[in-house]
Amino acid sequence: MLFQDLLCDEALKQQLIGMVQEKRISHAQLFLSSPGAHAFAVAIAYAQYLSCENPSESDSCGECSSCLMYEKLTHPDLHLIFPNTTTKTVSKDPDSELLAAPFREFVLENNYHIDIDNWIAYCEAGNKQLTINNRDCSNILRHNSTRSYSGGYKVFILWCADRLYHTAAPKLLKTLEEPEPNTLFILITEEYEKILSTILSRTQLVKIPPIHKETIAKQLIIDFNISEQRAQDIANISEGDYRRARSLVQDQALLNENLSYFLTFFSSVVALAQKRASDQIKYNEVTEMIRELGNQGRERSKSFLKYMLQSFRNILMLNVGNKEGVITTARELKEFEAFQSYVTVRNSGKILDECNKAIYHIERNVSYNLVFNDLYFTLSQLVTS
Ligand SMILES: [Zn+2]
Repeated sequence: MLFQDLLCDEALKQQLIGMVQEKRISHAQLFLSSPGAHAFAVAIAYAQYLSCENPSESDSCGECSSCLMYEKLTHPDLHLIFPNTTTKTVSKDPDSELLAAPFREFVLENNYHIDIDNWIAYCEAGNKQLTINNRDCSNILRHNSTRSYSGGYKVFILWCADRLYHTAAPKLLKTLEEPEPNTLFILITEEYEKILSTILSRTQLVKIPPIHKETIAKQLIIDFNISEQRAQDIANISEGDYRRARSLVQDQALLNENLSYFLTFFSSVVALAQKRASDQIKYNEVTEMIRELGNQGRERSKSFLKYMLQSFRNILMLNVGNKEGVITTARELKEFEAFQSYVTVRNSGKILDECNKAIYHIERNVSYNLVFNDLYFTLSQLVTS
């Protein structure tokens, strides 16, 4: 991965390049990524630049033997550690080394736009918990104590470091504090609050900001050959998350379905709040919608609830007259305007809390019916207060 192919902004690239050029590389860094901000690619570009035999002022050469191995993620001094579990091919004692080949395929197939849910699906892991486990940590310690293959830096990239198993983490603390020379640890996470404080205190924080809308739109046109208008529409609603933008392009139907579900649900909430007649409340349509969502599984319900959260934020922006702050397509904007008097500065905090609570319950396998019905009746109270 070359810096020139990253979607992140120039300031971040310069920050990383500067660290290498000025030889002030902190040996343990925590890459805190905004959702879908390509953090794994950023980490690889940084590590590749550090190992390149012929780097320029602004990038790796892309041609030396180190770069060629980095391109395939097979450099022997690059150690990839990621959440894992037993799979069809690894039936016991799994670790990142045993699953290295499928992981590399997964990353390259997805052009580095990876997330934990896709990885779980790729492993066909179902409901199993994926963790960075004790064996992974033992492997790290073993590699840390041996010489590097190339004579240069050894790089350990821990993707989804928030999944470091609690009994495994203490093993790493001393190494993070006093690593062997020429060793770099990059821990990547999108969930800062789940990183153990003992790890936080031993790592330097590098923030990976959301990707610019313009960059997302441009990249969508390159990757999917879609119209400029559609690329901009999707860039507008993807909130700097290229992974999300990609899935939105791939699934226009999902966008339409989300909006349609939202209109069914919230129109009914508002009608109930205003004590309108039951033929206007159309509660049976809501019940049908909940049933359809439930049939599509936990992840689908979660993604709809996230859409709902974003929609309420948008409606609030309209309510306070901040049209600039609205992140939406033209069609949604038109629909949301009809709701702008129902989401206000006074009730929006509670409405968003309720949506987050629903996501939390869906994640913990509470029944769809219960979660959505609770949300439905609570919201009908909130929009009147
Ligand atoms: Zn090179």
